[in-house]
Amino acid sequence: MRMKAVAAARTWWTAHRSRRRSPRHAHQLGATFSRISAPALPVLAGAILVCAVVGTIVTQREDFRQETERHAALARALDELHATATDQFDAAQLQFIAQRSGLKNLRFDADVIGSAGREMQSLQDGQGRIVGWFSWSADRAFIVAMDRLWSALAALGVALALFALFAALLTQRLARSLVRTAENVRKLTGEDALTALPNHRAMLANLNEALNSRRHEFVALLLVDLDGFREVNDTLGRSGGDAVLARIAVDLKAVLPAGAVLGRFEDDEFAVVMTSAGSHVAAALADTLRATLARPIFVEQIWQISAGIGIAQAPEDGATGEDLCRRAGLALRAAKREGRAAVRRFEPEIEKEDSERRYLRRQLESAVSAQALDVHYQPVVAAAGGGIVGVEALARWTHPTRGVIAPSVFIPLAEQSGLMRQLGEFVLRRALRDGARWPHVSIAVNLSPVQIRDRNLVDGVAAAIAEAGIEASRVVLEVTESVLIENPDEALVRLDALRALGVGIALDDFGTGYSSLSYLQKFPFNRLKIDRAFVMSLGTFGNAGAIIQSIVTLGHALGMKVLAEGVETDEQRVLLRLAGCDEMQGFLFAKPQPAEAIGALIDWPLWAPDGRRVAAGAAGAAR
Ligand code: C2E
Ligand code: MG
Ligand code: MG
Repeated sequence: MRMKAVAAARTWWTAHRSRRRSPRHAHQLGATFSRISAPALPVLAGAILVCAVVGTIVTQREDFRQETERHAALARALDELHATATDQFDAAQLQFIAQRSGLKNLRFDADVIGSAGREMQSLQDGQGRIVGWFSWSADRAFIVAMDRLWSALAALGVALALFALFAALLTQRLARSLVRTAENVRKLTGEDALTALPNHRAMLANLNEALNSRRHEFVALLLVDLDGFREVNDTLGRSGGDAVLARIAVDLKAVLPAGAVLGRFEDDEFAVVMTSAGSHVAAALADTLRATLARPIFVEQIWQISAGIGIAQAPEDGATGEDLCRRAGLALRAAKREGRAAVRRFEPEIEKEDSERRYLRRQLESAVSAQALDVHYQPVVAAAGGGIVGVEALARWTHPTRGVIAPSVFIPLAEQSGLMRQLGEFVLRRALRDGARWPHVSIAVNLSPVQIRDRNLVDGVAAAIAEAGIEASRVVLEVTESVLIENPDEALVRLDALRALGVGIALDDFGTGYSSLSYLQKFPFNRLKIDRAFVMSLGTFGNAGAIIQSIVTLGHALGMKVLAEGVETDEQRVLLRLAGCDEMQGFLFAKPQPAEAIGALIDWPLWAPDGRRVAAGAAGAAR
């Protein structure tokens, strides 16, 4: 029993000592030392100097006060004696003066007899001539002692201040070198500073080692990238974000099976190297990691973290560490494109898609800078009357060899590759310039979330309106709910500023996202576009009509115009009209088409109120 206790104590001491010697401890020690020493010494020196100065002033004043008092006492005693100025005082007279004035060892001499520790005062005759000198023991021992004390204190203060300066410089240097050493040690040992997990380099070494060892049949690499971690950092600041990451590292490590190593690849990306795993085991681990992350974390507030996970596995997906990293990275990016908390295992298609995306991105970049994109317009018709009351501008890209590329492909590509602002500005300028030629109709332009985040958007819109010479009231900007969810405060500021320019704001694709009623109330929309998916279900699902009816009623109650998108059949048109929709848009009336074709359609009603198609020639051409 005793032996056991001794062994336990020894183990604890060894662990404690090794912790004290660890780079992390050296780092902390350096930081603490410099934190304490830097302010403490100058404060102490300053306090001593202040004491010395105050003490000196007080002592000098006291000295002066006592001296004045003694001189006054001497004058009073002389007055009492009624002595005339003489160079002689007999012993009795001197004793009388000494008694009355309280001066010790009082003497009177015709000449100055200076001696240390004695005070003197001259005696003058009626003509102001000095006839002799009184001298007495000064009794200044206390004052002299205090004087010495203050001088010593002042000297000590100055010395300490110099020492403090020196010590502060020295400790800063020491702390810096401790931190540097700790970093170097960490790099050498492959430890990530924040999480104490293996860092990128160490993980690559682990991966290569696992691949080169003949013991493992399978080696899997899982890359785990947290979704939207920027928001955590933006809210909590760098140190709060670090606390969340450290917590996640602990949580993930706790659920790893035997033979798996967790590391931190970079910022918010973790990696797991897993040996002796079949593909189902790697997928099961991905699910476990996902479930672990789904547990709320509390750092100043509750955080619901999720991550995209990409998996690549040897031998199928590559034999070298480099191959596995690249392919797990490709799988991860594919997962991230699918949305939050997605898991993708690498497949050859992903690699093909990736090279295709990179090719298209380069092509789109040249097309945008050469302004080789086009803008088509889809008419919006009035539910009552059927006349064109507006158009929606839609970007079109025809690739020289690949032909027409759908906006659902190139718009997200532009958003991800930083081309959206340029593309959006091009569409806006072109649409407003074309729209200025078509009087009375509204011109709707789609705004991507990237554009809403742009601080220069409002100025850009104002400039495009001025340049095109179009009335602002004819311009409508369409935004989707995703803009409002990501950063509601910024979106509100921006949309309010746009409304102040006099343009209309439409909520696009309503009914597909959160369809939050609070957004409708909070944001300055004056138009609501019911999504095509809803319109499609009209006549198919019994309750679709009732839902549309209530959206229309709600929109009207909030003072908005309600428009239905994607109207393809006459039945839909009739039902939408009955539901009270103000405007409609869809292939039933006209497809999006070039500006020249739209010019010919304007001013012609496409659909008469009784359901009869008019101006059949023009509308037919449009379809
Ligand atoms: P959106 O703004 O909801 O545009 C309406 C889309 O529905 C257009 O597709 C249009 O062609 C299509 N559409 C209209 N009527 C019908 C119909 O009756 N049936 C069917 N099946 N489809 C119909 P498009 O042009 O492919 O655009 C798709 C999306 O791409 C747009 O949805 C919009 O979100 C985005 N987009 C297009 N151009 C731009 C642009 O210049 N800027 C931005 N930010 N986004 C754009
Ligand atoms: Mg739209
Ligand atoms: Mg839409």
